[in-house]
Amino acid sequence: MDSHRLFKCRVLLVEDDPLVLETTAAVVRSFGFSVRTAEDGFVALQILREVLPDIILSDLRMPGMSGFELLSIVRRRFPHIPTIAISGEYILASMPLGLLVDHFFQKGGYTPEQLLAKIKELIADSPIRPHLGKHAKVPLWIPRSDTAYIVVTCAECLRSSSIANDTVTAEVQETECIACGALIRFLVDSSVLKLLEQKAKILPARK
Ligand SMILES: [Zn+2]
Repeated sequence: MDSHRLFKCRVLLVEDDPLVLETTAAVVRSFGFSVRTAEDGFVALQILREVLPDIILSDLRMPGMSGFELLSIVRRRFPHIPTIAISGEYILASMPLGLLVDHFFQKGGYTPEQLLAKIKELIADSPIRPHLGKHAKVPLWIPRSDTAYIVVTCAECLRSSSIANDTVTAEVQETECIACGALIRFLVDSSVLKLLEQKAKILPARK
């Protein structure tokens, strides 16, 4: 057992459903890990400003800042932190999820043992992660919203600002952070949102 080595493992858990959040947190605490929780990506970023976890477990579809966007920012700003997505969404093979996360678990489709084994595996690998330089080029991945503007978050200073939706195309775009001047590259993926909406119509009941 190498659980002693991982005893102080700090996990950041991001999930908007309070019940799922609490049950998942209880599972992770039962591993002997310390857990901080956030109900969406914005809250998660606030926590990341204070203290960096050893691993992040995140839902994908959340109000406020989605997991897609949060994990894009983490990949660029904190590439050494391993990430796991846990979601009930149907994930297409064509969705570039592998660029965003190290592993994907279908909600309800894994055992605590499988989760523990994956966390241990990813944390054991994490010393080599800073050298994964290709992730620096991953753009923010923002599902398009129905509102008149979208929100982008700077991977350098972690501040968010809004951009008019009518200037947004499907291509990777660039804008300057109003707070620190850093270049923000982002991709508004309307097909992702469309897919999620269709899925929600087919399965209106919440799991
Ligand atoms: Zn900035």
